[in-house]
Amino acid sequence: MNFFSPLEEIKGIGPKTAAALNRHGFKTVKDLIYYFPRAYEDYKKTTKIADIVPGKVMIRGKIRNLHVQYTKRRNFNVTIGEVYDETGSVKAVWYNQPYRAKAFDENKEYYFTGEYGFRFNRYQIATPSAVVADDIDDMSEEKGTNGFQPIYSSKGSYDSAWFNRFFNKLRNEIALAPDLLPTAEPGARADALYNIHFPEKAEDVEEAKKYLGYEELFELILAAKLNRNENSKLRAEICPFKAENTKRFVNSLPFKLTDAQRVATWDILKDLGEPVPMNRLLQGDVGSGKTVVAAAAIYQAYKAGKQSAILAPTAVLASQHAKNLQKMLGPLGVKIALLIGATKNKTLIKNQIVKGKVDLIIGTHAIITDDTQFHNLAFAVIDEQHRFGVMQRQKLLLKTGDKETSPHLLAMTATPIPRSLQLTIFGDLDVSTISELPKGRTPIDTKIMCELEMKEKLYPVLAEKIKKKEQIYWICRLIEETGRSVSTNVKEEATKLKMIFPTANIEYLHGRMKPEEKDDIMRRFSNGEIDILVSTTVVEVGVDVPNATEIVIRDAEDFGLAQLHQLRGRVGRGTKPSECYLITTKSGEPNKRLAELQHSTDGFYLAEIDLKLRGPGEIYGKLQHGEMNLKIAKLTDTKVIARAQKDAEKVAENPENMVKYEELNCEIKKYQQLTTLN
Ligand code: ADP
Ligand code: MG
Repeated sequence: MNFFSPLEEIKGIGPKTAAALNRHGFKTVKDLIYYFPRAYEDYKKTTKIADIVPGKVMIRGKIRNLHVQYTKRRNFNVTIGEVYDETGSVKAVWYNQPYRAKAFDENKEYYFTGEYGFRFNRYQIATPSAVVADDIDDMSEEKGTNGFQPIYSSKGSYDSAWFNRFFNKLRNEIALAPDLLPTAEPGARADALYNIHFPEKAEDVEEAKKYLGYEELFELILAAKLNRNENSKLRAEICPFKAENTKRFVNSLPFKLTDAQRVATWDILKDLGEPVPMNRLLQGDVGSGKTVVAAAAIYQAYKAGKQSAILAPTAVLASQHAKNLQKMLGPLGVKIALLIGATKNKTLIKNQIVKGKVDLIIGTHAIITDDTQFHNLAFAVIDEQHRFGVMQRQKLLLKTGDKETSPHLLAMTATPIPRSLQLTIFGDLDVSTISELPKGRTPIDTKIMCELEMKEKLYPVLAEKIKKKEQIYWICRLIEETGRSVSTNVKEEATKLKMIFPTANIEYLHGRMKPEEKDDIMRRFSNGEIDILVSTTVVEVGVDVPNATEIVIRDAEDFGLAQLHQLRGRVGRGTKPSECYLITTKSGEPNKRLAELQHSTDGFYLAEIDLKLRGPGEIYGKLQHGEMNLKIAKLTDTKVIARAQKDAEKVAENPENMVKYEELNCEIKKYQQLTTLN
């Protein structure tokens, strides 16, 4: 058995267990060994009940007098029991966990861990966790861990105790883990893996994390560097920069480019003139004007006689791009085709694309289907790139119409990538940042409001806006998630709003509607024919209706920061003052994330906060990064990042030295696919 063996090769794991574990994402022995404890509990640190003081406590004792109390409020009950040891007793309560009462055996001793404090007029331990004391004692003896126990998150029916027993069986394999990195001390990895699963004390865990965090970062960074090296060996069509062309384009615009747009445009136009494919990320906050930057580059490709393509995540956005780019580039001679699901004469358009009769193809997935071929695609733009998976991007890049070259790639995103991530995961990318908004925008006033206050404080504001012919977005959660009672649903909301604003034009929009229907609604909203658009987050990305000045987001606490910021960016696009209402179901102290959003309109700052609060995998999407979430390393750990950078650089310079590191090669390949844009 080695780290890459299937699970069946582990003694005691049969085909059934293996299949079940497979479903939880554990395919190989390594997958399991790299399943690290969520926390550690020191079972030596118990307190006698006679000695407890408010705060976190651990008591070793039994429980008696268990019963469940139902309160008048529906759906609310309390399980109450009395935990006792030889020195006294204390109340323990669990809310809405009636099964608790039956789960205990009053004859057994448990370790109870929880918060001891004064609540509801009495001292009690609130929702303590409980584990059978014998199990812990046996395990500690067996593992020789002396009461310091890893706690693993449960996976289905496999609970922490199961993982503890399981790892104990793998103790030898873990202790003898082969070295992985050419840049670490021999034996460092085995020590770290051993210490993370079998620590005797907290310091052992700290030691282990030092190595394991480095290992994660090193692999990611090395993958990024190798991607960059590989990209530099590819060839691309040269689309030379010509000053007079760019001037003509810029002069045709109804506004002046911001300085930030100018710098970004210049980066991109230079790249297009190189024989190596551009691999660039253009990040800029919502409304910063990324589209016009892409348009400048499209014009340069057009002047070089080459085709460009824009891949957009939704039909609505693709149609909007087609409209705007037609305005910007149509008069300069660029022929544009829109290819979305609802496009009628697809065959004809595809024919024109392959024959080179259109210069710019804008579309959704339809443009990466197998039967769409290009004549000479030299430049590909992916808008809101985090919405796309690796496979989709790769498909687009294989469509040059010429096997020898790869198109230049520009990925645009309004979900900025924090610097810490840029250095690691996206280290192979060139990045341009538009850090300022065009002048003349009025800042958006963000308000947090409990839904109970809407009638009094929100509806009158909206009525006023409707009177002034300004428009409103009303955002609810996904239509298919209505099973949750708190979530609101577009259809229901639209009906309710019609009763509140009987004279207003109210329509709704969601992702499951037919593309033609969606486009029709969006078109009417853009034209000012709809006062309130009730919608799911399909309007989150890119949609630009400057006359919309209010956005109301229901169940705001259920959305991520970056997403809320995106949604908020739907308003504040014109010169009139705009407002964003974050509606929560709870009154009282607003949650931390919403408060951050209220106080900042800086997408970059918010992205950093989101990263800290939720981790990269959550923000940048599972699609793109698989299960990329870092398990140990912290992106704030700049020292480790710097060391991993330096070491990875050395290894990347002589990749042939890596050949004998089989496992590392395998990992790196995986990461390369996860992190690359092409
Ligand atoms: P995003 O970066 O969110 O994709 P868009 O490209 O949709 O932003 O641009 C938002 C709006 O700002 C558009 O209506 C666009 O025409 C306008 N715009 C872009 N650049 C400028 C500028 N330099 N001055 C004024 N308006 C601009
Ligand atoms: Mg955009």
